[in-house]
Amino acid sequence: MDYMRFPDAPEGLGSEMHDWITRLFPICRSITGEGLRRSLRMLQEVAPITVSEISSGTKVFDWTVPDEWNISDAFIIGPDGRRVIDFKDSNLHVVGYSVPFRGKLIRKELDEHLFSIPDRPDTIPYVTSYYKRRWGFCLPHRLRESLPDGEYEVVIDSTLRPGSLTFGELVVEGQTTSEILLSTYLCHPSMANDQLSGPVLAAHLARHIIDGPKPRLTYRFVFVPETIGAIAYLSSSLEKLQRSVIGGYVISSVGDSGDFSYIQTRMGDTQTDRLTAHVLKHSGKKFQLVDFLRRGSDERQYCSPGVDLPVGGLMRTFYEDSDVYHTSEDDLTAVTPEAMEQSFSMYLRCLRAFEANRKFRATVPCEPQLSKRDLYPDLGERDVCRSPSRAILDILAFADGTHDLLWIADRAERPIWELAPFAARLEREGLLAAVD
Ligand code: ZN
Repeated sequence: MDYMRFPDAPEGLGSEMHDWITRLFPICRSITGEGLRRSLRMLQEVAPITVSEISSGTKVFDWTVPDEWNISDAFIIGPDGRRVIDFKDSNLHVVGYSVPFRGKLIRKELDEHLFSIPDRPDTIPYVTSYYKRRWGFCLPHRLRESLPDGEYEVVIDSTLRPGSLTFGELVVEGQTTSEILLSTYLCHPSMANDQLSGPVLAAHLARHIIDGPKPRLTYRFVFVPETIGAIAYLSSSLEKLQRSVIGGYVISSVGDSGDFSYIQTRMGDTQTDRLTAHVLKHSGKKFQLVDFLRRGSDERQYCSPGVDLPVGGLMRTFYEDSDVYHTSEDDLTAVTPEAMEQSFSMYLRCLRAFEANRKFRATVPCEPQLSKRDLYPDLGERDVCRSPSRAILDILAFADGTHDLLWIADRAERPIWELAPFAARLEREGLLAAVD
């Protein structure tokens, strides 16, 4: 077992990831359609993601894969003949999954199709209507207020017809079949943090693992449209996942400079919960643990009864606490190369902890004689509590085959990355045997 199996993030990775966010930013994505497909194809340049399609109409648990939505243009022309809203200025202007429409409406009729945020008058909100057929436009409240009475010409050049739902998957085989599931969603139009930071970090993490030495665990990366994609994926792979997944995360909103937030699993008692809280605590940075009651993304599906996969969510500023969440202000200034790199490194720490966290059994009764193996000072010490030899003895003292290394690290109040090299040494000396 080698805890340092994953090397550190290469220099310049934060800028590289930010460049990828910039490249993907203009694409109009949705839960189906060409934008999603194109985004996945671009991410294939980073890592060898396999892209698959699930046909519209396919039953997935209690849901049905919807018709595919594509859009080429949309605008509103005001009474004076000028375009007052244009999809080409921002793809957030159109309510996601808007049905095609072409017609003339008076101001009052048009208003029923407009969405804005009164207390954020200069921002465009992100609104979707996947399962109720309607059309609509999103705009800054200030602009909405300034629209005069009169007749408006509305054009939404979209299509909504049978096609498929696209998703990506990448499995990096480890030495064992135990898996870490890393899921990220790809379905929002032009937003940087709550959309692109997650898939871009996931793709680079996948490439990093592929480029390094073979890991102990297997890593499954999943790129799905939120909710329906996760449900569709689970409905096709549930038993396989339940057999193999021992931990995982929904990766999203990792590009802002806020403190880390961890969304706990439903019962908050899985290895992922213990491990992530441990890593965050010992990283020395401020963080918050978010109760599952405040869940927001695909942890809702992964943790639902009957699925119960140990998948939490590790992000920066929690959605509800972010001022720019689901608005046009979540633009390229909302994410920084430094934050992307810090988030990448935090994920690496967590994955290394998963690699290191095993259950061991001491192979000899009583403490083994460590001094003859150069594992114990040959002079008696006074202050042994924080010494390396104490860490070694702590591992041996609790290595009963039922408590994992993470539990021992918590008990000894040391980070797992301090204990892991000693556990590896004891395993090499034949004094510990892994039982999992
Ligand atoms: Zn979102």
